Amino acid sequence: MVFARGVRKSFGNAEVLKGIDLNVPTGSVACVIGPSGSGKSTFLRCINHLEEVSGGVLLVDGEFVGYDLRHGKLYEVNNKLLCQRRADIGMVFQSFNLFSHMTALENLIEAPIMVRGMSKGEAKDKAHALLERVGLSAKADAYPRQLSGGQQQRVAIARALAMNPKVLLFDEPTSALDPELVGEVLVVMRDLAESGMTMVVVTHEIGFAREVGDQLIFMDGGVVEERGEPREMIANPQSPRTREFLSHVL
Ligand code: ATP
Ligand code: MG
Repeated sequence: MVFARGVRKSFGNAEVLKGIDLNVPTGSVACVIGPSGSGKSTFLRCINHLEEVSGGVLLVDGEFVGYDLRHGKLYEVNNKLLCQRRADIGMVFQSFNLFSHMTALENLIEAPIMVRGMSKGEAKDKAHALLERVGLSAKADAYPRQLSGGQQQRVAIARALAMNPKVLLFDEPTSALDPELVGEVLVVMRDLAESGMTMVVVTHEIGFAREVGDQLIFMDGGVVEERGEPREMIANPQSPRTREFLSHVL
């Protein structure tokens, strides 16, 4: 579902991704860990073409997100097509990024109506079902400021789901939360994984990576330093740098 080969990204002279390979099969969960500045967010942003890669190949569901391949050449797609393709790639951020002037329900129906052309009635029905799924049916009419961080993040996940994404990208979804609110968000994410959602999760929650992840990737300095089956890799990291990193987060 997500396929990366030799993905490179430079900002000016600084190369922050130095050839990333990743294969996330449909229905599986890849967890990405690594120190600050190792390129985790940049890589996630490349997946939905919020950043343009400087080199390599990045496919989602077998397609380039920002390009079309015609007669052996890559052409940039127009904005409308880019929006449609991005609509298949949900993203959940550390800082929730809800529309603050909209209720939870309004947050959920905005994109399905505007981007997918869904009717208001259908979008609302779907939004109510999704809010129930994340345990927030009672909060449909609440504004983000009236919700706890954990509740806001669950609305953000429901909002991403409202678009029926093929893949969900999470960038440290629990890092901004008070410790006692982390669990309720992880429960929702685990439920999604168990329902077969394809997910790429940047996280410091090693327990989540171990129990929910199908693969674990340790990034350092713009490269994948180590990858493996999460349980094995956490119990027995091969690279000294992985070992050192894990010793700080475990
Ligand atoms: P963190 O754990 O702190 O979120 P990260 O692994 O997500 O870190 P990135 O945010 O991907 O790291 O950043 C990787 C490197 O790229 C950093 O050195 C950062 O300063 C640099 N970088 C990221 N975005 C830009 C940008 N738009 N312009 C210039 N440099 C950038
Ligand atoms: Mg980051």
